[in-house]
Amino acid sequence: MKRITIAKGDGIGPEIMDATLKIIFAAGAQLEIDEIQVGEKVYLEGNTSGISAESWDIIRRNKIFLKAPITTPQGGGYKSLNVTTRKFLGLYANVRPCMSLHPFVSTKHPIMDIVIVRENEEDLYAGIEHQQTDEVVQCLKLISRPGCEKIVRYAFEYAKQQNRKKVTCFTKDNIMKQTDGLFHQVFDEIAKEYPEIENEHWIIDIGAAKMADTPEAFDVIVMPNLYGDVLSDVAAQITGSVGLAGSANIGEECSMFEAIHGSAPRRAGQNVANPSGLLQGAIMMLNHIGQTEVAEKVQNAWLKTLEDGIHTYDIYKESTSKQKVGTQEFADAVIANLGQKPALLKAVSYANNTALHLPPYQRKPAANKQLVGVDIFVHWEGLNPNELAETIKKIETYDMNLSMITNRGIKVWPDGFKETFCTDHWRCRFKPKEKQTVTKEHVVNLLQNAILHNIDTIKTENLYEFDGKAAYSLGQGQ
Ligand code: NAD
Repeated sequence: MKRITIAKGDGIGPEIMDATLKIIFAAGAQLEIDEIQVGEKVYLEGNTSGISAESWDIIRRNKIFLKAPITTPQGGGYKSLNVTTRKFLGLYANVRPCMSLHPFVSTKHPIMDIVIVRENEEDLYAGIEHQQTDEVVQCLKLISRPGCEKIVRYAFEYAKQQNRKKVTCFTKDNIMKQTDGLFHQVFDEIAKEYPEIENEHWIIDIGAAKMADTPEAFDVIVMPNLYGDVLSDVAAQITGSVGLAGSANIGEECSMFEAIHGSAPRRAGQNVANPSGLLQGAIMMLNHIGQTEVAEKVQNAWLKTLEDGIHTYDIYKESTSKQKVGTQEFADAVIANLGQKPALLKAVSYANNTALHLPPYQRKPAANKQLVGVDIFVHWEGLNPNELAETIKKIETYDMNLSMITNRGIKVWPDGFKETFCTDHWRCRFKPKEKQTVTKEHVVNLLQNAILHNIDTIKTENLYEFDGKAAYSLGQGQ
């Protein structure tokens, strides 16, 4: 018997949760349930994270959380419950299998069986955003070595366990050489530990295009958070419906399982929603907690039901379906099929599908880190970079010189193009005159001089070398 936490959420959430629980209990799931409230009602009661402190206690005690979709109220100030839960609980891996059910569910891609392994805690989802000038806002993209190592290792271990042949990595490291560059580099390092599994890297734009066009070319795909968020919805949709896919959010201690779709408020309370997405989440949960026989039984009955043409409205087509049913009738049909296997679709066998236990991240020895310069960002409303350079040169110290100015990353001084469009957000790079040691005092002196000359500094970024290697980007066009 395993004690788990459930939340029925908003919109279609309660209906699909009831259907899901009915099916898994009928299949013999050994679960004790603690129900908590999350979502719209909790938000509107004034709790900006959509969940109460008592509910966190229950989630942390039970460690396994099955969550129906929630509605995030419109307007500012409400934090995403999903992002908060994933990050608070360290749920670093988001696993989303997307499989075609051809010819029973209409799809342009009959041969598609992809698993997207999405990094779940960092990247642009760190949620660190600032407005810095009248014209410019920024969002920090944070990628860490532990984050990359954990997710990439998870993808390879998952592929090994599931007998999958290939792991593909998508990044945009031709542009983001530090952040996506690290993800790609770690992918290459870890791939070497799994010689039996094929590995490849695609630049995300062409990779995504290829995935949408010929998904049969892919198997497991691992990627940073934002790309994974977008592409896992695309992958689920092109199998036939977002209503069919579930997702597992896996951490070292806790895990959360859900459907990938939202609360579809317009469909709520009508007994029409497809419970399959949440059911797929529940099946992953049952595997995770070792109830693999129950998971297998439910999955095979679900495949048989779809094969029988018993379909909810979202996948109903006269050419491929036999009977259009509501949420409850669909659940009853799956229950009636428990113990049966699909005839044409491949029946599943989940004997090995238990939770993966990865070695904890080992911090590497620190590199030799050396400060070699500083970027000082300024808010300046002029338009001519040569004029700005004249002003900024006034803050130079005897040993730190202005070496470059960029605007939105493109070099505009020295030798900029007059055609380049400039905003009011300028990066001024200072380097030492000779190859000498730079200290934090140099930075403070520059900032003090900026105050004296009425220059509006908005932030600084230190320029470092790690083990002698420059660890910052050049200006575009530099
Ligand atoms: P959505 O996924 O809720 O719905 C989009 C459309 O997809 C629906 O109108 C419906 O036609 C269809 N659909 C989705 N799930 C279905 C199902 N199970 N059966 C049949 N049809 C289904 O996306 P949305 O309308 O953009 O978002 C609605 C709310 O859900 C928003 O408040 C959003 O913030 C929230 N949301 C929550 C989660 C989550 O809790 N994990 C995820 C995404 C969106």
